[in-house]
Amino acid sequence: MGKVLIIGAGGVGSVVAYKVAQHPEVFSEIVLASRTKAKCDKIAAYVGNNRIQTDQVDADSVEQLTALFNKHRPELVINVALPYQDLTIMDACLACGVHYLDTANYEPKDEAHFEYSWQWAYRERFEKAGLTAILGCGFDPGVTGVWTAYAHKHHFDEIHYLDIVDCNAGDHGKAFATNFNPEINIREVTQKGKYYENGQWIETEPHQVHKTLHYPEVGPKESYLIYHEELESLVKNFPTIKRARFWMTFGQEYLTHLRVIQNIGMAGIEPVMFKGMEIIPIEFLKAVLPDPGDLGENYTGQTSIGCRIRGIKNGRDLSYYVYQNCSHQDAYKETGAQGVSYTTGVPAMCGAMMFMQGLWRKPGVYNVEEFNPDPFLKALAQNGLPWHELFDVDLEL
Ligand code: NDP
Repeated sequence: MGKVLIIGAGGVGSVVAYKVAQHPEVFSEIVLASRTKAKCDKIAAYVGNNRIQTDQVDADSVEQLTALFNKHRPELVINVALPYQDLTIMDACLACGVHYLDTANYEPKDEAHFEYSWQWAYRERFEKAGLTAILGCGFDPGVTGVWTAYAHKHHFDEIHYLDIVDCNAGDHGKAFATNFNPEINIREVTQKGKYYENGQWIETEPHQVHKTLHYPEVGPKESYLIYHEELESLVKNFPTIKRARFWMTFGQEYLTHLRVIQNIGMAGIEPVMFKGMEIIPIEFLKAVLPDPGDLGENYTGQTSIGCRIRGIKNGRDLSYYVYQNCSHQDAYKETGAQGVSYTTGVPAMCGAMMFMQGLWRKPGVYNVEEFNPDPFLKALAQNGLPWHELFDVDLEL
């Protein structure tokens, strides 16, 4: 049992706050802080019962963060602001003796590039300070890594082929919107594709490789090979993997909008002069796009995310598909947020719960697959994201 500080009052932050508040036996006190305090107050009012205290912080400033940590003295901080803030928050954790959990790896603001090296470089300092840092505890990264650890622990002697498949078969009724922070989302999906094969990383042009895959209760969807951060840690932590890829579904309408946005320069991250002031095109674009946190009300359909794994058990080939489907409407009815925020916020709460219960607690910096998957997956199913397993099925990949 302990006090938790959530940083970031967006779509994901609202779900984390809602879910954490459901477990007073684990989270004794809750503080929600973000750049805009009014957004924290709105979430706190939605959760009700004065369960959540709110505060303001600019998480780009280690000084402001340390002042916030010293004021509230949390045991754990859940970082659901943006990946740009990961390192400042980790620095403040070290300065104040606070444990750390996030859902997305660090990305410098001026370079559309993400990798774990920056955060892994904190391992020794967290070890020495006796602090735990849990990296990438959303759905993907997050649950996908825990499932891989679970498959390795219970079903396979060796995992050889891993394909993570992420389908959003939802319809929000907008011509174009992103399901989480537009800036981060567009940076992620417009970069080159990359996958791992036989010890090497192979690059592809953006959206060059695609295939029709069938998703449970959804049916066929065109799925595109993109690079995703958990591939980096999973091939390191499961060295028998020969090939690891990540697939995400996109509708034609979404891809057409994305192409136009890129072609006209609106996805740019370099500053341009506009009416005598510098603006960054993608930041301006974010300001005119729908807020992902507001998509929930009219969002229909569901997400279906899974791991398709092939390997060997007792000398025999085995294929395994583990997946979770989440209805946008069900997520909205429960928390006021759409399915993508929900599927990220629930695992973040479960990871925080594992930490508070002492089940995921060891000094250092770890990816989720380095912890015991069993209690986490039990908590996940109990807290709104039941998951399913299929054995010896056609994985299509
Ligand atoms: P939003 O843009 O909706 O929310 C981000 C929040 O962080 C906003 O409230 C924003 O404040 C706040 N924030 C941004 N910069 C700062 C700062 N410098 N100081 C304090 N607060 C700040 O994003 P989402 O909720 O959609 O996503 C949150 C995180 O979750 C992202 O890192 C995203 O990459 C990650 N994610 C992970 C997934 C996974 O499965 N692992 C899937 C989806 C998202 P303000 O409101 O003032 O702008």
